[in-house]
Amino acid sequence: MTIEQRPLKIYNTLSGQKEPFSPLEPGHIGMYVCGPTVYSDAHLGNCRTYVSFDVIHRYFRHLGYRVRYVRNITDVGHLTDDGEDRMAKGSRVAQLEPMEVAQKYTLGFHDMMRIFNTLPPSIEPRATGHIPEQIEMVQAILDNGLAYERNGSVYFNVRKFIENKPGVYGSVSGRVVDDLFAETRELKNQDEKDHPADFAIWMKARPQDIMVWKSPWSVGFPGWHLECSAMSTKYLGQTFDIHGGGSDLKFPHHENEVAQNFGACGCAPARFWMHANMLLLNGKKMSKSDGNTITPHELFSGDSPHVTKGYSPMVVRFFMLMAHYRSTLDITDEALQAAEKGYRKLMDTNQLLQSLSVDPADYDGSESDTDRAVLTAIEDAYQGLDDDFNTAIVLAALSELGSYVHKYANGQLPAGALSPWVIERLKTAFQTFLFDILGLQDEAGAGADNQTVDGLMQLILDIRAGARAQKDWATSDKIRDALAAAGITVKDGKDGATWSRG
Ligand code: AMP
Ligand code: ZN
Repeated sequence: MTIEQRPLKIYNTLSGQKEPFSPLEPGHIGMYVCGPTVYSDAHLGNCRTYVSFDVIHRYFRHLGYRVRYVRNITDVGHLTDDGEDRMAKGSRVAQLEPMEVAQKYTLGFHDMMRIFNTLPPSIEPRATGHIPEQIEMVQAILDNGLAYERNGSVYFNVRKFIENKPGVYGSVSGRVVDDLFAETRELKNQDEKDHPADFAIWMKARPQDIMVWKSPWSVGFPGWHLECSAMSTKYLGQTFDIHGGGSDLKFPHHENEVAQNFGACGCAPARFWMHANMLLLNGKKMSKSDGNTITPHELFSGDSPHVTKGYSPMVVRFFMLMAHYRSTLDITDEALQAAEKGYRKLMDTNQLLQSLSVDPADYDGSESDTDRAVLTAIEDAYQGLDDDFNTAIVLAALSELGSYVHKYANGQLPAGALSPWVIERLKTAFQTFLFDILGLQDEAGAGADNQTVDGLMQLILDIRAGARAQKDWATSDKIRDALAAAGITVKDGKDGATWSRG
């Protein structure tokens, strides 16, 4: 596939402005996005960030780039403000092994990503699966003189880094170093550090720590920031195109990541840093640790004091796309109701558009004003995406296109107002924007698909029941095994067989 050469501009947190983008290696894009900490269910704020990067991923693919999209799973080292590992906390609360907690919430996260129709990353590395790489990185930073060991823990020497590489520390969060120093809050082992701004890259285990590994310095665990430095380097190289995450990660996580990469490899990890803004609930950041959350399932079912009814996953996705990824987005019942209307209207418009046909006899061969307006609106949608992935502009352009579709269909526009090729172009473009790039699905269609599957499954189970009635166990088992291989479980009960997915 050839690359569609469009003049992409991406807002780079490092420079604080939109910059022309072209990848390091023509045709290929390396993108790393900080993944979830899997100690509890993903909340909607997390989902917003991943939906934002999903559209970015999809648009690159649409343009023909090969994207290596790396999104990690944080399953160790991300401490709470009280200094407890979030995974250990999750395991204590649920009375499970930490790895059981990680597995449970990783699977739940994958389900949620599927429900929101996000494409999976190309690589999904786990922090606990990359302890040797992290230990190597700590060693490299020590060897380069930018870290020091104290009682089995290893700390990054922030002041020395600032001296060696002036202007780098603070470049992600856009804050001056003195302010950062003043703000640095201590989590643990404050006394051991040479300076409060230094941060742990390896932590010696305390008696209560349960996720621990051997290292040259102590039995302990890596600092949270380290995993992303180690895994992005391993899978994307020392310098790659894009690093993303939610804006709450700029400091300290991303700032420290940059410092570690310089410390270990002597260069900046990513050329572009992209940050998705926060999803708010009642005007405040949605956060698991603060308890100000609404779970996706609560929103889908309406079982929450914050909403008057349930909203489907695609309505929620549409709602997220109504704002640019760098703007905050406040969840309110009213905004969700507006999103529901907007979403349904767009899907209905698409169905109407796909059913339109042009009688060649009505077409006089000329290009009309409406033709030109339609082509301009399609180009507007592309330009919205080229301009730092502005999905709000795409939706506005689709809505404008929708008005031509309705006017054409109900005769407000004369029969020859659109040339056949423009209608065909519009049909393709509309579907491409809706489904391939914005990643929406027509849920009315999904309902119809489910009905079809239900009907087929009934037929298969009837055939199997017939085989069992004749004691043809071989056929019965063959059907059950083939369904299991397709991800469908059949259960035999007193009243016959039932089936479920998974
Ligand atoms: P966590 O599981 O807390 O490590 O967060 C996973 C991802 O979700 C990170 O990229 C965060 O920046 C992002 N995130 C956390 N809270 C929000 C929020 N309220 N709105 C948008 N993104 C968020
Ligand atoms: Zn990260």
